[in-house]
Amino acid sequence: MSQTNGLSSAAANFGKLTFNKAVMEARLPKHVFDSLMQTIHSGETLNAEHAGIIAETLKQWAVENGATHYCHWFQPMTGSTAEKHDAFIAFDKQGNLIEKFSGSQLIQAEPDASSFPSGGIRSTFEARGYTAWDPSSPAFLMRSASSATLCIPSVFISYHGEALDEKTPLLRSMNALSKSAVALLHLLGNKAATKVTTYLGAEQEYFLIDKDLYEQRPDLVMCNRTLLGKLPPKNQQLEDHYFGSIPDCVLDFMQEVEAELYVLGVPAKTRHNEVAPHQFEIAPIHEETPLAADHNLLVMEIIRKVAERNGFALILHEKPFAGINGSGKHNNWSMGADVGGNLLDPGETPESNLHFLVFLVATLKAVHKRAAVLRAAIANPGNDHRLGANEAPPAIMSVFLGNQLDRILNMIEKGEEVKSGGQQYINLGLPQIPELSKDNTDRNRTSPFAFTGNKFEFRAVPASMPIAVPNTILNTVVAEAIDELADSIRKELGSGTDLNAAVMTVLRKEIKATKPIRFEGDGYSDEWVKEAKKRGLPNHKTLPDAMKIWQDQSTRAVFVKYGVFTEEEIDSRYHIRLEQYVKAIDIEAKTLHQMIKTLILPACIRYQSEVADSYGSLLAVAKAAKVSATAKAAQATELAELSDDVAALIAKTNALEAAIQKLHKGGDLDAHAEFCAKTLLPAMKAVRDIADKLEGEIDRDLYPMPTYDELLFQY
Ligand code: ADP
Ligand code: MG
Repeated sequence: MSQTNGLSSAAANFGKLTFNKAVMEARLPKHVFDSLMQTIHSGETLNAEHAGIIAETLKQWAVENGATHYCHWFQPMTGSTAEKHDAFIAFDKQGNLIEKFSGSQLIQAEPDASSFPSGGIRSTFEARGYTAWDPSSPAFLMRSASSATLCIPSVFISYHGEALDEKTPLLRSMNALSKSAVALLHLLGNKAATKVTTYLGAEQEYFLIDKDLYEQRPDLVMCNRTLLGKLPPKNQQLEDHYFGSIPDCVLDFMQEVEAELYVLGVPAKTRHNEVAPHQFEIAPIHEETPLAADHNLLVMEIIRKVAERNGFALILHEKPFAGINGSGKHNNWSMGADVGGNLLDPGETPESNLHFLVFLVATLKAVHKRAAVLRAAIANPGNDHRLGANEAPPAIMSVFLGNQLDRILNMIEKGEEVKSGGQQYINLGLPQIPELSKDNTDRNRTSPFAFTGNKFEFRAVPASMPIAVPNTILNTVVAEAIDELADSIRKELGSGTDLNAAVMTVLRKEIKATKPIRFEGDGYSDEWVKEAKKRGLPNHKTLPDAMKIWQDQSTRAVFVKYGVFTEEEIDSRYHIRLEQYVKAIDIEAKTLHQMIKTLILPACIRYQSEVADSYGSLLAVAKAAKVSATAKAAQATELAELSDDVAALIAKTNALEAAIQKLHKGGDLDAHAEFCAKTLLPAMKAVRDIADKLEGEIDRDLYPMPTYDELLFQY
């Protein structure tokens, strides 16, 4: 590979197609650049005059790089991104064709957006939704073989200012957390901090399947997961795929993905095989959360495009194959101050250790108090199949700290001197925390929320979900916990205690109160489910169950108080999530029904008729050929068992059909969702059980689709 400036050619192209800080600094007048940077830092709105200058500069840059069109690239509540392209062309007053892009087009555009879900916020007669540039995320060029489009990362809001997207609440939650964290830092004596940001590194898991095989399965094409399929004798029990050598065809794919991500400024860093066959992971270096959330969407989009180009189909579903590990998206999260650095890093001075402990305990407090809403935050139809299925964290939220920190917290709780290996770690009320080596912490992969050295890893996040969703919730509940801690510290100070003693008193109290959320053991075990119940921790196994927390007044009040959601926005999101769940399961149930009727049952009946024919012909010649009674009986039994299974398949399929028809008869959305969880999914499972049994019984040549062993053991 050629070298440029000491960089590989791929790295030398980093950010080449983004209107990044360096490009802006080089091209914008200094006062406009400075004001834009100030806007980004403070989150204020952009000055309209400057917007005009920026728009013109942006257009010039885009056109020089081959762009003909621009689009506001935003995240409606559909779970993916949306874009509507407009050409730069316009007519000037003399009627000449020019290329133009104005400030108002940059900061506000009005897509005809009546078909995006709004959960009732916008009635269709008032369909206006506005997209506006989010300057904290650089504009970029999306190129195909013959086109280039300027994409402007945007928020999407209604005429009345309600959020119609996932990005707006995320930005609001960033502000909320920053405000609370800065106030706490000031209280702790760091008066210089003006902003706290959260950082996010999203480890994206995915499957790659041969495209031709994928297209032969209606379940994969329609639902991105298999609704049928018998597990082959060898699947993943040898664990030989995890971190194994990457097959060449996949390596070529990954290389191409990374090159595309680099030009878009996405710092893809890690790539490896995952646990399941044909499962892989890509992780970029962490960035500020809103940018990382945009970048994760780009990762999902680029891997899909490049996969297709390379003859693969991409599967982002959380549980594409029963009995085989599904895909998650580990959400590595930390908080950092503009003055003071990573707040979840113990640091070298006693002061930084104290700050570390306070922010660590604030996070514990948030997960403890708001476990149910964090569970709801990661609910999607796919994740219900994954959580608690002995391969992913359970639906129960808990925090893993690692042995060393766990011990330190226990000592603080008991008021003991914090010592380790002869060293004294708490001195005059100020904790000294030994440097936490990453190797000492986290090798517990069964925890949904694990401390890993200088960040928390929220592991229960589903692979296909826009990562803005869980981070909005996480930021907000941590902001609340930070405020509560700060209030308690202020109260202690009010009674005349000095700062360090006040902080330690509050920490001791909180460490005790949040103890039930801490769990160092095996999160996949049945004992933990029992233990968690004893501790009173919520365990919501299905999306409809998990989502009920949004009806809880105290939960709603936090999000309203922090300005992250209005009551209407909460209702709309609740509605959309439930509706998407019902639609997804409705589609799955109908797809399965159709597959049985038109593919599986015909194959089984064909085979049954072959066996029946064979039996008939055997009987016809039995006497002459001296066929034994045992041989005749064996074939009769074979036929009887087969026809019993076929009969069972017909019965279960009819039951499924009846359930599908009942879904929308009467009841409201909550009832429909409940019906999906309690009736439709079990009816689907009953069909699958017998269909998978039959897959193991009929002639392989008659089976009408690629099987698991064909799909999953290509390389
Ligand atoms: P592992 O597989 O051991 O969990 P990876 O190296 O695959 O680790 O992923 C770790 C992710 O965490 C990367 O995206 C990395 O950039 C990110 N990360 C590291 N430090 C921080 C931090 N302080 N805040 C947020 N994310 C972080
Ligand atoms: Mg990880």
